[in-house]
Amino acid sequence: MAVPQNRTTKSRRNMRRSHDALVAGNPADCPNCGEQKRPHHVCGACGHYDSREVVAAAKAVDIDEDAA
Ligand SMILES: [Zn+2]
Repeated sequence: MAVPQNRTTKSRRNMRRSHDALVAGNPADCPNCGEQKRPHHVCGACGHYDSREVVAAAKAVDIDEDAA
């Protein structure tokens, strides 16, 4: 197994990690429902894209407990 020849100092480790931070996305408001959505993605709340409904929005299903 390969073993590092030299200890990585806190300074070098932290300098390497200076580029590791996560960056926030660039969310935009859905023009249909106003919910925050990712750019170039279907709105997760209403299923609209480019002012059209492309994914049917989930509807509440009434489950009859006595039917079984
Ligand atoms: Zn929407």
